[in-house]
Amino acid sequence: MRVPKIAIEEHINVPELADDSAKYYPPDTWKKLRPALMDVEGQLLSDMDKCGIEMSVISLASPGIQAIPEPQRAIDVARQANDFLAEQVEKHPDRFQGFAALPLQDPDAAAEELTRCVKELGFKGAMVNGFSQIDREDSIIYYDLPQYWPFWGVVESLNVPVYLHPRYLIEERSDIQGHPWLLGSVWSFGVETATHALRLMTSGLFDMYPKLTVILGHLGETLPNAIWRIDHRISAIPRGIPAKKKMAEYLLNNFYMTTSGNFCTQTLINTILVMGADRVLFSADYPFEQMSEAAEWFDRVDTISETDWVKIARSNAEKLLNLGTSSR
Ligand code: ZN
Repeated sequence: MRVPKIAIEEHINVPELADDSAKYYPPDTWKKLRPALMDVEGQLLSDMDKCGIEMSVISLASPGIQAIPEPQRAIDVARQANDFLAEQVEKHPDRFQGFAALPLQDPDAAAEELTRCVKELGFKGAMVNGFSQIDREDSIIYYDLPQYWPFWGVVESLNVPVYLHPRYLIEERSDIQGHPWLLGSVWSFGVETATHALRLMTSGLFDMYPKLTVILGHLGETLPNAIWRIDHRISAIPRGIPAKKKMAEYLLNNFYMTTSGNFCTQTLINTILVMGADRVLFSADYPFEQMSEAAEWFDRVDTISETDWVKIARSNAEKLLNLGTSSR
């Protein structure tokens, strides 16, 4: 086994939301996921031990707070969930750190909760599960909209990253209605999250907040492959785009990517070629992926230099999240 790894897209759940995701999975699959999400000190820790993962940055499972249309309930549940997360971290501070869940139904409350989580609970950033539903079940609100810019200003001033994580689409409003086999992690997660990231980039958000940092999972949700062509076609037909720079510049300066759920060496190498090894981080995506599959794959990757391997395995995460683990 090589040096111990750090994983940063590892999920847990709280009793209040424990059954909210049941509808997205076949009953047999959910029967295994539900207890795995709740068994933080049992299954998660034991999987980490077996897989050479020293530390997991834990977060609330998707869609979490983002799928609570009532703003006040979103605020209340986010606070409870973050307090629960903080308790797990407090019990095992050398094994767990936390990403905050945020009630983005109310941008001011989200900024306030993030500030509390970072300053009082010691969280390392936030995990945001795609768009929020606000007031209505069928609403889809993305965070490039003007009402979110002050929130992003607070994120930048706190100097912590936001992990933009996928969530299930509202199927009736999607272009894959009638094709359930393309839902979720198969295809729609990646496309929708990439679109959300591009909305942030094209809006000019990173011109206003140049130090803002966003993390994408799944080796960048297709963006490393697509970014050249996106810039190529924007330069041909700009259509009044507000952003001042090329999208590749934002991708390389404002984004990090993790290996969560994408254990493919060719895709890893392509992501390193586009992003550089300093912006790629190991992750598994517990319990939606087998931690053992992630670790066995990554431990065997030998087509990158050992220096790059160690960066991806842990030192990039230590630096980005200020984990204070390097002395161990
Ligand atoms: Zn995940």
